Amino acid sequence: MSACSLLVVGAGPAGAAAAATAAGRGCDVTLLHDPRRGQAWAGESLPPGMPDLVAAVFGAAILDGHLPAHGTRAAWGSDALEETDFLANPLGGGLLLDRARFDAAARAAAVAAGARLVEGRASAIMHADGAWQIARAEGGALTARFVIDATGRSAAVSRQLGAGRTAADRQVAIVAAFADAGDGFHGTSIEAVPMGWWYTTPLPGGRRVLALLTDADLWQARTQDWPALLGETRHMARCAGPSASAAHPRAWPAESASAQRLHGPGWLAAGDAAMTFDPLSSQGVSAAVLMGSRAGAAVADALSEGTMPDLAPWAEDYRTLEAETADLRTYYARLERRWPTAPFWARRAAQGATRSN
Ligand SMILES: Cc1cc2nc3c(=O)[nH]c(=O)nc-3n(C[C@H](O)[C@H](O)[C@H](O)COP(=O)(O)OP(=O)(O)OC[C@H]3O[C@@H](n4cnc5c(N)ncnc54)[C@H](O)[C@@H]3O)c2cc1C
Repeated sequence: MSACSLLVVGAGPAGAAAAATAAGRGCDVTLLHDPRRGQAWAGESLPPGMPDLVAAVFGAAILDGHLPAHGTRAAWGSDALEETDFLANPLGGGLLLDRARFDAAARAAAVAAGARLVEGRASAIMHADGAWQIARAEGGALTARFVIDATGRSAAVSRQLGAGRTAADRQVAIVAAFADAGDGFHGTSIEAVPMGWWYTTPLPGGRRVLALLTDADLWQARTQDWPALLGETRHMARCAGPSASAAHPRAWPAESASAQRLHGPGWLAAGDAAMTFDPLSSQGVSAAVLMGSRAGAAVADALSEGTMPDLAPWAEDYRTLEAETADLRTYYARLERRWPTAPFWARRAAQGATRSN
């Protein structure tokens, strides 16, 4: 085991960013990648400004193969679908991601920077003789001085280390993907409804994603109702096109949550393993890349000097980002006043009132 030995568990945006940055600073990095992840994705987009941020970490090639986003449309707080054109945005356009391609390019950038890619799934973790031993579900173990948990919402490593997790809501995303026959708008379209909100976005490769964001209990009451719920929308059925109502959606967790501890002796959590943001903010991927990369830099620099990183400033910035995003969630919930007694909106109004007090 070298003086700077870092194991990054999970090779999504956060893990690849941590590994690429740490390896680029000369650290001996192993990136553990579970290749069994399916090809189902939420239809993520990068808002203006964020493509430059991810390119700064992974190189410009990470931006190849995605669709340009020319704007967004939203029926939020009013029945009208209003368009925001990115043309006038000084930060430039956004991107509609092919996530499988994005993650593969991010892993390739980490390997090009010098990280060792190992396939497998981390199971048990223990600390012995000054080092971490991480068992792989497939057999064998990996050893490292420092571990970064970048396993997404499962927070598979930090949960075992007692990080705990606090959720602000019980939001779920009911997501369907299908061949795109939508109305041709190059960007994400959003519509608020009494039960929550919908979004649809075209994807590279002629596909489209449509999702309903609501609370888990509200979805439980209407699980068989996808075509009927879509039929109740004013805009979404038209934006998403005729194949949408026959699609078979899947429920995904989409709550805003965070680890009670972001780091401890010899470990930290980054990306969704540290905190998850409301998909409305479209900032999960860029936050994972930025904070993963900063974590990788801090760990590499400290370990190369034979010390442990001071992660307090990094964690403080992460908590600031969490608070700012919670404020933004409250702001958007307050803009939508059409259904004050509908449980989805009443819960968010109550939360906003508590935050203001
Ligand atoms: C409905 C929805 C819509 C969204 N829309 C957007 C959007 O428009 N824009 C945006 O920026 N963000 C969006 N997000 C958020 C975004 O998807 C996440 O924030 C982002 O993927 C987080 O990256 P990550 O690397 O932290 O985690 P992940 O992408 O989840 O990667 C974690 C990796 O760890 C692996 N792993 C898990 N457990 C183990 C283990 N035990 N051992 C080894 N590997 C393991 C997984 O297989 C995976 O490869 C959305 C999320 C949802 C739910």
